[in-house]
Formats: sequence, C-alpha cells, structure tokens
Amino acid sequence: MSRRTILAAAAASAASGAVAGSAKAAAPAAGRQAPGVYRYNVGSFEVTALTDGVARRPLDGSFVRNAPVEDVKEALEQAFLGTEKVPIPFTCVVVNTGGRLVLIDAGTGGFLAPTAGQLYENMAAAGVDPKAIDVVLISHFHPDHIAGLRLKDGTAAFPNAEVMVPEAEWAFWMDDGQMSRAHAALQPAFKMVRRVFEPMTKEVRKFERDAEPTSGITALPAPGHTPGHTAFRLSSDGADLIIWSDVTNHPALFVRNPGWHAVFDMDAELAEATRRRMLDLVAADRLPVAGYHFPFPAVGHIARRGTNYEFVPEMWNPAL
Ligand SMILES: [Zn+2]
Repeated sequence: MSRRTILAAAAASAASGAVAGSAKAAAPAAGRQAPGVYRYNVGSFEVTALTDGVARRPLDGSFVRNAPVEDVKEALEQAFLGTEKVPIPFTCVVVNTGGRLVLIDAGTGGFLAPTAGQLYENMAAAGVDPKAIDVVLISHFHPDHIAGLRLKDGTAAFPNAEVMVPEAEWAFWMDDGQMSRAHAALQPAFKMVRRVFEPMTKEVRKFERDAEPTSGITALPAPGHTPGHTAFRLSSDGADLIIWSDVTNHPALFVRNPGWHAVFDMDAELAEATRRRMLDLVAADRLPVAGYHFPFPAVGHIARRGTNYEFVPEMWNPAL
C-alpha cells in the first residue's frame, strides 16, 4: 500500500466511525469520583477507611515556613503532583473492635472546601449507619477533624456516639483567654470548636495523655501540631496500626522532609521533634500507619531513605 492509499483508508474509516457514532448517544462522563471506601484488618479489628474528600490549597511561600517555595515545588514535581496547588486529602477511619464501632476524627462536615465533606455519603456507601457509631475519638481540635461532628443544621451527626477528646485539647481551645490572645488567623478555628462542642459540653469525655479511651485503642501524645495533638495505637491479636493524625501533612512533602514546618503546626519546633520521634518508631518497628492527610486509602508504611523517609502506600487488597 502506498502512503496515499493508507491515508485514504484511514480517512474513510474515521468518517464511517463518525457516522456509526452519531447513530447512538455517547455515555455521559460521570464527572465525579466513585465512593471512597477501603477496608482492612488489624488483628481481629476491621478498619474501614472513608474519604471525606480533598482541599486544594494554592501554594505560596507561607505553606512551608522554613523552606523556599521552589524546593516545595520540586518535591511536588518529584511526586508527580501539580505545583500550583497542594492537595490536602482527608480520611477518617471507622474501627469495628468487635465490641464497639469507633469513628476516629469526624471530617470537614462540608465547611472547608467544596471538594470535601464526603464522609457521610461514603459512610452510606460502606453500609455504616451514623446512628450505629458508639464512639467518636478526636485527635485534635482543628476544624478539618471536628467540623463533621455536627451537621449544617446543627444536629449531631453521630447522635448515639460518646465523643472522646484529648484533655489538653479541651483545656486549650475551650479557654476564652486563649481565644482572645490568639492570632486573627486562628479565630475561625476557635469559633468552630465552640459551634461543635458547646451544645455537648457536659457529655464530652476527656482522656489523659496515655489513656486507653476505648478497649484496644491507646492514645499516643504527639504535641506540637496543636497543644494536645494525639495519635492512636490500635492493638489487636498481636497486630498494630498507628493512627498518625497530623504528625505529618501530605507525605510527599513532610515524610520526605521531616524538618519542614507546615503552616498548620502551632509549635513548629515541638511538632518537628514529635514527627522525627514517630517516624523513627514506625520505620524501625515496621508498623503500618493510617494518616489523616495521606492519599486514599491513606494507609501504608514508612521506610527510612538515608536521613529522610518515604511513605510506601498499601497496595489495594481486593479481598480480606
Ligand atoms: Zn488536619
């Protein structure tokens, strides 16, 4: 066949394809993500990871306080992410301990970004009834972790749950003196704390630094990000999972660069010390980690790479 014959044949087949294609309607694009639900076991505990969505924060020099924005862009590029906006995913977990159904952190409630607030619909997709949640464990009082405790009409999203919070978080955020002295940028966070907790002041249960708020789930003090910021350790039948909370934000930036200070860390030096201690612990003990701001399904391991670390995501497991 000559080149001209090939081109003619291609044009003819494209034309006939166009005619055939116009004979029936094309399927419309869904235009939205499928439900974000992922399940895994920790000993006899069943964990269900539920995405609440993502916020995309325009990258500027303020995001990492102690690194040039060019270095942050390079780290995003190395992770094949865009360099204009930093993706900040949110993932809550529901732990079925056999005795109780425990939700750890409550999502954004749709208050923070139009692309977040998906927890409730993903819970429905997972077959988890919000009324069946026995306990909500809160890691810290930043709005992306507590706003979802209350629906937009003000009613409790998990009406039968006992809400348990770190004592030190309660002491700091509920203190009106702290609120009045805090920077303007923190005022919305203080206001959200009041919106969520004031109607349930009497019912909220506060737990101490090293407490076991519910059987098989132990608090791990991880201060710095906020004064009472808490990670958790799930232990069941000799298996463990570290619930990382905000020890690091996105792993492509802050697991790779534990010395970087994210704008959200309230005491940056203390947060870095906590981050290095926790990274060392989970890498040395090969413990699986579930990170609130890790990409979905937000679970995997931390591997040491020279003086830094790398997040190795769990590979999707199609069967339990
Ligand atoms: Zn957070």
